[in-house]
Amino acid sequence: MKPSEPDAAFEVSLRPPMFSEFTGQRKVCERLELLVAAAKKRSDVLQHILLSGPPGLGKTTLANIIAREMDVNIKNTSGPVIEKAGELAGLLTSLEKGDVLFIDEIHRLQPTIEEYLYPAMEDYRLDIIIDQGPQARSLRLQLPKFTLIGATTRAGMVSAPLRSRFGMTTRLDYYGAEEMQRIVRRSAGLLDVEIDDPGAAEIAARARGTPRTANNLLWWVRDYVQVKADGKINGELADRALAMLEIDRDGFDEWDKRIIETLIHKFSGGPVGLNSLAVAVGEEAGTLEEVNEPYLIMEGYIKRTPQGRVAMPKAYRKLGLKPPSGAQAEFFDG
Ligand code: ADP
Repeated sequence: MKPSEPDAAFEVSLRPPMFSEFTGQRKVCERLELLVAAAKKRSDVLQHILLSGPPGLGKTTLANIIAREMDVNIKNTSGPVIEKAGELAGLLTSLEKGDVLFIDEIHRLQPTIEEYLYPAMEDYRLDIIIDQGPQARSLRLQLPKFTLIGATTRAGMVSAPLRSRFGMTTRLDYYGAEEMQRIVRRSAGLLDVEIDDPGAAEIAARARGTPRTANNLLWWVRDYVQVKADGKINGELADRALAMLEIDRDGFDEWDKRIIETLIHKFSGGPVGLNSLAVAVGEEAGTLEEVNEPYLIMEGYIKRTPQGRVAMPKAYRKLGLKPPSGAQAEFFDG
């Protein structure tokens, strides 16, 4: 069971509003801050930016921070929501000079919509075809200079022509343990809940390097301590609250477990190619590679080798098995 999703107001209230409150992702933030400062200095419009990385790491948050620091409006939409060119035209023509258009899941834009975006991004114009058959005419709309911020969990699925139209492409990675604890403590402060260091560490450890997950877990633990204790979170109470949700100590979700089980039981620990592993797990190869795998690799459960994916000793121990020796163990080093 997973804790229920916090409501929208809760999400918004925990969102860091500026770079100085945004924990971690130092390199990404430094680059973005520089772009913002340069554009402001020239009184220019910010270039288009593509943010990639697994869900819940702060892409939407950063887009909002950028708009705020540029002192412009932001319009939010998402790739699959834009079905017709007219909808894109409506969005683009509603922007004012310098505004940000944020398109989440931009890799899921329809190819036809994407083609309309190219001249819009490059020359701030939109050529819309109206009517059909012999009456079909093209209508050219001049757009204000705007900034497109795209977010994607699947950088590999963003087409080359679209990707090349972004002035900057930058990737967010999972947060380290200490950063996660800082995020938990900050969120607890905003929610006005007392939390000690072991309590923050318990929650952070189970959130698989993802702030959104940490906030969701914190929300649950807060409810738990309010009902079962005096409303203050400590290590033991956090542990009990999370045990009640059957949240794995290492933050493993169902897919992570399935991936290492398949790798070990069906493929004798590998090496196995990504596509074969994906079919056996029942997931798309791209999602496996860009959503689940980065965390498992970062934590040392699996390794990418030229021959394919290999289960590491930590994965065997996770399943209560003894890591193999002999030929298989050759993959563990280096
Ligand atoms: P994404 O767009 O990458 O899926 P979001 O920007 O929606 O992720 O972030 C999810 C939640 O996690 C936000 O509501 C925010 O409260 C929290 N969050 C993300 N990054 C940070 C961070 N660096 N510091 C504090 N909270 C963060």
